[in-house]
Formats: sequence, C-alpha cells, structure tokens
Amino acid sequence: MSAKILVVEDEPIIALDIQRQLTQLGYTVVAVADCATLALEAVDRWHPDLALMDIRLRGDQNGIEAAAQIHQQHDVPIVFLTAHADAATVQQVKTVCPYGYIVKPFEKHDLVTAIEVALNRYQAERLTQAALAKEKELHKLKSDFIAIVSHEFRNPLSAILLSLDLLQRNQSQLTVAKTQSLLQRARGAADRIKHLLQDVLTTATAEAGKLQCNPTPIDVVAFCRQIVDELQLDHDIADTAQSMIVLSHAKAPDDRDSLVNLDKHLLHHILTNLLSNAIKYSPHGGNVQLRVRHTSEAISFQVQDCGIGIPQHDLLHLFERFHRAENARAIPGTGLGLAIVKQCVDLQGGTIDVQSTVDVGTTFTVTLPLG
Ligand code: ATP
Ligand code: MG
Repeated sequence: MSAKILVVEDEPIIALDIQRQLTQLGYTVVAVADCATLALEAVDRWHPDLALMDIRLRGDQNGIEAAAQIHQQHDVPIVFLTAHADAATVQQVKTVCPYGYIVKPFEKHDLVTAIEVALNRYQAERLTQAALAKEKELHKLKSDFIAIVSHEFRNPLSAILLSLDLLQRNQSQLTVAKTQSLLQRARGAADRIKHLLQDVLTTATAEAGKLQCNPTPIDVVAFCRQIVDELQLDHDIADTAQSMIVLSHAKAPDDRDSLVNLDKHLLHHILTNLLSNAIKYSPHGGNVQLRVRHTSEAISFQVQDCGIGIPQHDLLHLFERFHRAENARAIPGTGLGLAIVKQCVDLQGGTIDVQSTVDVGTTFTVTLPLG
C-alpha cells in the first residue's frame, strides 16, 4: 500500500508540482493545505502517514507552529520542505522533533530519500515504543505480583504459625476438640498457600507462552465427579457453612458415553477455579450446581451459586489479573483465578459467559468446542 501524504504549502504552483512528483513516485497525496487550520483538519480527517510541511504558510501560524499543534493531537511524522535554511529557523524547527528537512529547490531523489527515511524511522520508533510499553507492562505485572502474592502469603503463614505456637505452648491444657480445630486452621491456611503457589505457577507458565492445549479422550462425568469430591472434602474440612456441589449431566441422545476430547489440565483449572469461587463467595452456604451439557459439537459447563453476586461494573473487568469486586474484599483472594480460567478457555477456542445479581447469585457458563 502506498504511503498517504499530506502536503502543506501556501504557493499553489509549488504545491501542484510537489503533488505531481509525489504521485509519480507512487505516493498517495490525501490533501493539500495552505494554512495551519486546514492542515490540522486534513490530519484529523485523513490520518496521513506523513506530512510535508512548508514553513511559510497563509494565515497567522507558520509551519513550525502548525507542526507543534499536530504533534499535540496526532502522531504523524513531519518533514519540513522549505526555502529557509538559516540557523535560527533550523533551531526553531528542532523544537518540534522533525523527521526530515528538505531545502528548496530540491530534486526528486531528495524528496523520495527524505520521505522513505522518515517513514522508516517512524516505523522503527513505533516498534521500539511498543516493545518499551510491553516491557513496562511486564514490570508492573511483576511488582503487582510481588506485592499481592506476598500479602496473600503473609495471612495464612501467620495463621499457621499462630496455631503451631498455641499447640506447642499449651500442649497439656488443650482439649482434643481445641487441638483438632487448631490443626484444621493450620491445614486450611496451608491449602491456601498451596493454591496460591499453583496459581502463580500457572500464570507464569501462561506468561511464558507454555500453557498448551493437548486434548485426550476423558470421561467427563468421572472427571467432574472427582473434582467435585476433592473440593467438597477440602471445603468440609475448612469451613462450617454448608455448601453442597450438585453435579448433573445431560448429553445428546446420539452420544453413547461421556468420553470427550479435552485437555485435562486446562479443564481442571477451569472447574476448580469456578467451583471454588462459587463456594467461597457463598458465605451463607447453599447449593452450587455444576451442570454439564454435551453434544457432538460442543460441551458446556455451568457453575451456578446463590452467593454474594458480582456488581455490574465489576463484570467488565472480571477476567483481568488481580481484579477483585468491591463486595468481595472481606473474603481472601488474589484475583488470579478467573484470569487463569479465561486463558484456559481461550486456548481451547471456547467462550465464557457470566450472569450475576448482587445478593442473589452468579452463573458462569464455559462452552468448549469438541473437535
Ligand atoms: P483467587 O486468585 O484466589 O481465585 P479471587 O477469587 O479473588 O482470588 P478470581 O477467582 O479471579 O479471584 O475472581 C475475581 C473476582 O470475581 C473475585 O474477587 C470476586 O470479586 C468475583 N467473583 C468471582 N467468582 C464469583 C462468584 N461466584 N460470586 C461472586 N463473586 C465472584
Ligand atoms: Mg478465585
């Protein structure tokens, strides 16, 4: 595609000549402007790849002032094309970071060289800026990680140390029930550290592009049953609020068994995160439904709870790392779980949908294609 060029020149004959030369060279001249106002309007309208700017223009503003204004609002490289080559003008031009400077009269090859060098430099700068932005983002991610993860480690570690301390110091006076409850507390806290470590490792694996999708045939009902049993056991040990996970499975009449091709690890991440959220954010208990629906083309997993729900404005950011809803602050968490779920769903070409009403409940539905 030929580069789109804006010509800003107040002498109609020169403007026409430049336009002709540029067209012959294979560029597209999107507009010719003779004053700063028209130049700005043209940039707004045409988003040129480059502007060739004369210094003397019609009206109050010269080309250097026009370039300064364009810089403020748009990201367009500017090459000055002018008869002024005195030191004072060059000094002034430098303040608007030009991509080139051609002194009139010029030859065709001067024009093409200046334009190509400017376009290439602009492209290279964009790439460097993009790399820098990515680097900054990674740096921020790392510091967020360290801050949040170390904070989230500290609480369960203190709980473990406190429980062990009490057990050690009051060995003889403690009843069996009290000893059991302290051990349970320590175990719950150790579990939280274990899950947190798993989340951090999964996030790091995904970040390194090493989270992969390797589908193998699995008995999806047995697989779900095992996850439900594990979570139920963890929950029964750790908590007193009554939450039951109820698993149901519906499949198309033409399917004989529940064998499907899915990646076990990815599905494990998806289900454990959604189900443990459903339990965790239902502080008053209530059943959690896991509905598996399955046809020959796709399989869906629906997790429904009657918990605290998610405020509408948080729904938009739910899958961003570290995002936690306003009403969940009192419940421990890092905000990594759903970001991991989303990555696992994306890797399998699936979709995730969420419906939620505060204080009524939440339903997440993950649909994965079966290839
Ligand atoms: P963790 O990294 O330990 O999973 P988390 O549970 O806070 O921490 P996510 O699983 O990513 O992080 O969830 C992000 C936020 O979405 C939660 O903090 C919570 O506000 C909200 N949320 C997720 N699932 C539910 C749910 N079933 N009910 C209510 N809120 C939920
Ligand atoms: Mg979670």
